[in-house]
Amino acid sequence: MTAYDWIETALNTVHKAHWYRSLKTITRPGSTVSLQGKLVSNFASNDYLGLAGDPRLAEAAIAAIQTWGTGSTGSRLVSGHRPIHEALESAIASWKQTEAAIVYSSGYLANLGTITALVNRRDLILADTYNHASLKQGARLSGATVYEFDHVNMAQLQAQLAAHRSEYRRCLLLSDSVFSMDGDLCPLPQLIALAQDYECMLLIDEAHGTGVLGETGAGCVEHFGCRDAVLIQMGTLSKALGSLGGYVAGSAALIDYLRNRSSSWIYTTGLSPADTAAALAAVKIIREGGGLRSQLWQRVTQLKQALTTQLSPPEKQTGMRLLPSESPILCVQMSTPTAVLQASQQLLDQGIFAPAIRPPTVPTSRLRLSLMATHQPEQIEQLAAALAKLQS
Ligand SMILES: *Cc1c(COP(=O)(O)O)cnc(C)c1O
Repeated sequence: MTAYDWIETALNTVHKAHWYRSLKTITRPGSTVSLQGKLVSNFASNDYLGLAGDPRLAEAAIAAIQTWGTGSTGSRLVSGHRPIHEALESAIASWKQTEAAIVYSSGYLANLGTITALVNRRDLILADTYNHASLKQGARLSGATVYEFDHVNMAQLQAQLAAHRSEYRRCLLLSDSVFSMDGDLCPLPQLIALAQDYECMLLIDEAHGTGVLGETGAGCVEHFGCRDAVLIQMGTLSKALGSLGGYVAGSAALIDYLRNRSSSWIYTTGLSPADTAAALAAVKIIREGGGLRSQLWQRVTQLKQALTTQLSPPEKQTGMRLLPSESPILCVQMSTPTAVLQASQQLLDQGIFAPAIRPPTVPTSRLRLSLMATHQPEQIEQLAAALAKLQS
């Protein structure tokens, strides 16, 4: 017996519960990828605009490495702050129309570091139950009292506020803007109104909204016309922006406070020059327009129309159903985890990579399809036809 034997036992338990996960190797970015050596259409990427493989981002990253080196060599407050960090933070603030922004080494760290800086044991957090793991983890780590409300249930949130808000000092509301495993949107105008009525801070996670939603791609806040509201907008540089890192945008005071009190920003090395430059290039490309976003939405419309006509009506009881979505994430719900695993494998055999998402990650099993601006219309047609065939 050794002190580490329990690890094998724990892994066996994971296996027995069919929760074991393993890595799949993909050898290049894009809408067609090589997966375990086989070329497939990729419907599993967060690279909505195809920018992770864009030569303009690669050039910017290479130039930044040549100018500033591969590493930032220190934390931002000590020796790791470069002009490119400032340029990216200004570009994000200007895009989001906020006074300031701060970039973290990942979106996950941005959520942990922001939530734990804003609230503690004396405070209250109210959060959508479908929120991303990093929001949940941040809430737990903060030591605040946490209540979850049912997904997008504003009546329940209001009842929780009425019952508990007055017992606490500060209150922070947390919600994804685009829910990553469903593709629907948070009811942002109602969240803002409730935050105002009950004197709460509101943090919106735009990981899947940034670059995708809104007139200039600034996200869900722009989409709903809520840019004048006082908000904490966070997001990632790793999805539509094709790079790595996270950000928080908001008032100058908020950002200044985070620079002084957010551990996951203070006690870690500054974002690498290459990641910073690639993200900055992405923000510029998206703000210039250029049609990538409209191309993405054309693909979304094409797949939605195809699935609406090709999936059997619910009365036929095939169990396959397109979940409501207002984003490039479209989910086809299926009756059981086994059915969805089989479907994912059958699609893979036909050259389509569409991951199966199962409980406990989500309440019901589904194929999660994410679209990219760089998908060809034929790839969408092939996907819709393959999904329709699964029902027969
Ligand atoms: C991906 C994601 C994050 C984490 O961002 P990373 O930069 O990948 O760490 C946070 N929130 C949501 C909703 C996400 O989908």
